[in-house]
Amino acid sequence: MRKPMMAGNWKMNKSVSEATALAKEIAELTSGYANVDRVICPAFICLPVVQWNLKDSPIQLGAQNCHWEESGAFTGEVSAAMLAGLVDYVIIGHSERRQFFGETDESVNAKIVAALAAGLTPIVCCGESLEQNQAGETQSFVSGQVRGALVGLSAEQVQSLVLAYEPIWAIGTGLAATAQQAGDICGKVVRATVQELYGAAVAGATRVLYGGSTKPGNIAEIMQQADIDGALIGGAALDGKSYAEMVRITSEVYAA
Ligand code: PEP
Repeated sequence: MRKPMMAGNWKMNKSVSEATALAKEIAELTSGYANVDRVICPAFICLPVVQWNLKDSPIQLGAQNCHWEESGAFTGEVSAAMLAGLVDYVIIGHSERRQFFGETDESVNAKIVAALAAGLTPIVCCGESLEQNQAGETQSFVSGQVRGALVGLSAEQVQSLVLAYEPIWAIGTGLAATAQQAGDICGKVVRATVQELYGAAVAGATRVLYGGSTKPGNIAEIMQQADIDGALIGGAALDGKSYAEMVRITSEVYAA
């Protein structure tokens, strides 16, 4: 059985002291829900302090990006190797990175390879734009992104990583995909592509998250979808109580 995950992407929000306070609040409020993986992804500068403050907690840490090279002349960048020991996860290929920082399927693939080599678990994002959705291109586009991300990876590597389907039109808009739409793409496109490339056992073992305007009010329905194993949460993860509520609801859905 795939363990559910609630991963909070804090994006470029929270100062070091605010991030520390939020991380501690989340650790306290979610302590009773061990059947859910709780992952928070603060900005790079917050990671060491938050890690230190969470040292006795089951909350896991993730970064929001990494570079594909181990070290070198890449001003402003942080390598996966530098993140090793500090975080367990790293978000790769978020649509904001693709849109504002020129990330491509090739660079996403290179970053995944670097993250895996450093012992990190990539949370690999994919998802179509509103125009692509309206043009009926969702399946081919998302499947292409998954294929591009996984180039050259072994079956073992693929089942160790996490895929996140995040339709761009649902991110930060309050317009979540319906639970059924989200479940369909996570199952019939994302997981189906993994199955086509690596077989049913690998597809069955790989966690697939949904992301896009999830909140306490819609998470139960989303988590009831058989092919959705959790959520990548933006806005609602910046509030300790709403994130904790989503963890609680997920815990209940899985315990039922
Ligand atoms: C995200 O940016 O990954 C995201 C899903 O954001 P939100 O939950 O705010 O839509």
